Amino acid sequence: MTGCLDCGTALGRRNVSGRCRTCTIKRVNACPATAEKRKAGIHAKLARDPDYRAALVRRAVTLHEKLTPEQQEARRLHGIRQRVTVLSRPDVQARTHSPEARAKRGRSASATWLSWCPADRREEYRRLIRSKRIPAAEARAIIEAEVAGTPAAARREVATHQLQMRLRHERDLASRY
Ligand SMILES: [Zn+2]
Repeated sequence: MTGCLDCGTALGRRNVSGRCRTCTIKRVNACPATAEKRKAGIHAKLARDPDYRAALVRRAVTLHEKLTPEQQEARRLHGIRQRVTVLSRPDVQARTHSPEARAKRGRSASATWLSWCPADRREEYRRLIRSKRIPAAEARAIIEAEVAGTPAAARREVATHQLQMRLRHERDLASRY
C-alpha cells in the first residue's frame, strides 16, 4: 500500500488519485478556477431560482428584524467602516483568500453542519457516509438513534417497549393452549 502524495496517509486499495480525501479536497478548494466555477454556479442559481433568492433574503431580514434600531444602525456603520478601512486592504484580502483561511472556514462550517452530532460520534458518521456509502439522512438517523436523549432514541425506546409487550402478550396467548 502506498501513501498520499501530500501527507503520506495510507491509501485504500481502490484509490486512483494518489491523494487522500482530505488532501484532494484541499487541492480542489485551493484552485482559483474551481472557485470561479462555484461563484458562477451560485450566481446562476440565484438568477434562475427566484424562490431560492427570496428564501435567502427572508432569512437575512428575519435576522435583521430581531435587532433593535440602534443595533441595526450600529451594524450598518460597522459594515461600512470594515469595508473601507480593513477589507479593502491588499494584505487582508491576501490573508482571507489564503488556503489556510479557506481551510479554517471549512472546518467551522462543518462544525455547524454537524452540530447535531456529538463530537465523539463524528468520525463514525463520516465513516458511514464515506466508506459504507449510506445516505447522509440515514446515517444521521443511525447516530441519533444511538445517542440518548434525542427524539429518535426516545422513539426507538418506545418501539422496543411496544415490541416487548406484544411478544409477552403473544407468549401469554400461546401458553393458554
Ligand atoms: Zn493526504
